[in-house]
Amino acid sequence: MQLQVAEFHQFEAGGNPFLYLVPSGGIFAMDALSQKAVALVQEHPQDPLALLEALVAGGAAREDAKECVEDLVSARALRPEGGWQDAVEEPPANFPLQTLVINLTNQCNLSCQYCYEFGEDKVATPEGKPKFMEIETAKQSVDFLFKQSQGRRAAHITFFGGETLMNFPMLKQIVDYSREQAREHGMYIDYSLTTNGTLLRPDIIEYLAENAIGVTVSMDGPKELNDKLRVFSNGKGSYDTIVPKVRELLAKHKSRPIAARVTLTNGVTDVIRIFRHLKDDIGFHEVGFAPVTTSPDRLYAIGPSGLDDVLAQFEQLAYEYRDAALRNELHGFSNVSDTLAELHQGISKSHPCGAGLGLLGVGPSGDISPCHRFVDSDEHKLGHVSEGLDPEMQKAFLGTGHINTKYDCQTCWARPVCAGGCYHEAFVRYGDTGHANLHYCDWIRGWTDLCLRIYGEIATHNPGFLNHFEQRKAA
Ligand code: SF4
Ligand code: SF4
Repeated sequence: MQLQVAEFHQFEAGGNPFLYLVPSGGIFAMDALSQKAVALVQEHPQDPLALLEALVAGGAAREDAKECVEDLVSARALRPEGGWQDAVEEPPANFPLQTLVINLTNQCNLSCQYCYEFGEDKVATPEGKPKFMEIETAKQSVDFLFKQSQGRRAAHITFFGGETLMNFPMLKQIVDYSREQAREHGMYIDYSLTTNGTLLRPDIIEYLAENAIGVTVSMDGPKELNDKLRVFSNGKGSYDTIVPKVRELLAKHKSRPIAARVTLTNGVTDVIRIFRHLKDDIGFHEVGFAPVTTSPDRLYAIGPSGLDDVLAQFEQLAYEYRDAALRNELHGFSNVSDTLAELHQGISKSHPCGAGLGLLGVGPSGDISPCHRFVDSDEHKLGHVSEGLDPEMQKAFLGTGHINTKYDCQTCWARPVCAGGCYHEAFVRYGDTGHANLHYCDWIRGWTDLCLRIYGEIATHNPGFLNHFEQRKAA
């Protein structure tokens, strides 16, 4: 048997070399001996015994050399020539549902110009469908969640919109009913919601705090940035309405961390300033950023140079995150936490995200969709909560989204975490949920490499910090 090097991405962290193994998603810290072994095999394939003898001849103790070769083989950094290949693990059949995103309404009291639900790139076809979810559909949705999540100990409901709080009475009824159902099924259930913050009131805040409902507020930073596109239908900015309400939310809701979610658009790319404002001036626990999902020709689309600028600022914040982690402090830049969580879990994705698998969306009509972004879209419907998932539709969606179908991704080292990227983004850009998001590849590889280096530094100097990621859900 001849050993050859497996596919990997090499990186350095804190002066130490690491291998990111593809497609397994493992991270291997190299010492001088393993570096030498890999270099020898890179020169030409080696018989394991010959490799061991070469390491011994180079001055290594026989026991150390043996252990080194065994470690490299068991980590799959070295593999038999023409022998086993690392296949991406397939999700099991009947994968149990973990999260149901319930769109309580498709109505919104803001008119954010970039909104994927109402903007020029919208995929929803809400005509003739209910605008607000009613109790019967809500109960069917909860029943569907418990039926589909069998085998799990916990399930999660995320409330979404439109503007979620425009249907707050239904949210409360769903919480009551799903708690009853959770008791009957012997399961644990928890909740979160996303809101634009404009409708928060003292009684709502009290309810969210008492019921430990996680809250994410969509907000784009200081007034002049937030109000560029996050406006009411009369064009008035939303910042002055949101901020006092959010301050009250942060003061009174202590049972779950409160997060902000920023959409970056052309002209709203001042990441560091936005982060400082939302984290330090307003007081959010975490702030996450996502470039707007759009066709490239929209006025609010960020061009390639804008994305480079965003990545440079992400890098600065990511190093701040690393420094805080080395002091054992949480920093609050959630883009880093999310990627580190995936790297720590050694994820190697068959599909880009949980949509259509462990996560589903349901619209006010009860139609099931792969996730909240496809709610109310006839083209992407996967069933109805009264009848359940249509297995053929689900199979077709997951089939085209599988990493093995994305030709361009087969030689990309970032595929264990990317797997082609968001289906919704792919649909908006290429008209096909199964298309790889090739316009983002440089960004994804640059970001993943940066997070690998930060992961390596934290793993070397403060490994205890990585325990934070044991439980953190990879989105
Ligand atoms: S979309 Fe691009 S970055 Fe992502 S796995 Fe495919 S080739 Fe790699
Ligand atoms: S990554 Fe895209 S497709 Fe997946 S859940 Fe998020 S929005 Fe939906």
